[in-house]
Amino acid sequence: MSAPTPFPRYRSRYLPALTPAQIASLPDKAWAPVVLATGAIEQHGPHLPVAVDSFLGQVWVTRAAERLPADVPFYVAPPITIGKSNEHVGFPGTLILSKDVLRLQVFAVAQQLKAWGFGVLVILNTHGGNTSVLTYTLREIRAQLGLRAGYLRPKIRFAEITPQEATYGFHANQWESAAMLALARAHTKPEWAVCHYPASIHDPGELRPENAPATYSWASQDISPSGIMGDAPAATIEAGERWSDLAADGFAAEIKRWAQDPTLGASTDLF
Ligand SMILES: [Zn+2]
Repeated sequence: MSAPTPFPRYRSRYLPALTPAQIASLPDKAWAPVVLATGAIEQHGPHLPVAVDSFLGQVWVTRAAERLPADVPFYVAPPITIGKSNEHVGFPGTLILSKDVLRLQVFAVAQQLKAWGFGVLVILNTHGGNTSVLTYTLREIRAQLGLRAGYLRPKIRFAEITPQEATYGFHANQWESAAMLALARAHTKPEWAVCHYPASIHDPGELRPENAPATYSWASQDISPSGIMGDAPAATIEAGERWSDLAADGFAAEIKRWAQDPTLGASTDLF
């Protein structure tokens, strides 16, 4: 009988799977990054499940871990699956943490990590609505706790994506729809996908929802009745598989960078 596949597959690096004694005796805590995935449970149009952001975060952690050899030291914290999603209020299935709750939760994880002897926290964030809160919180973690802290943020270039999609396809878009088709086809309804852009790159106006000289605070209903911002029908399984590999490669490289450069995120010990 073959041995059962461990769950999660990165179990030897997954902090909740370790005993207190094992965590206490890890020899590389001071410099090995701890990966914290932050996602969201929120509407992703009529064609995708509400768990897209958190689901994709778990896929990247898993696939990045598979790509890294045992001698690259890193650990994985339990994910934060609900995010600051008030921009998607009013759609069934959207769960919303306030900015304060998200901030306190991430800061509390960092505080405990520090107490256990860890020195580096890196965030794998898959939800744009979390970013403003996380950036602020990472600064607090650096300044108040002295941890090295930052994002895993690979530069992933999807050559086939149009400039319009790259600029205004920012939610339940071609990329997310393709990734979900490739990774969780049974949970998608591609026949319900529509293309909707809340602005055009050919519009010379200065006030637009994103990527403009001036932006405004939108709720999804303000800029897209379906909740889709992007060309969801253009998604294909083949592109989703290719792009998913690119993303996993990128996140693995970012984890490795943090694991191997002891100066990244800090030139000095603050305390
Ligand atoms: Zn998303």
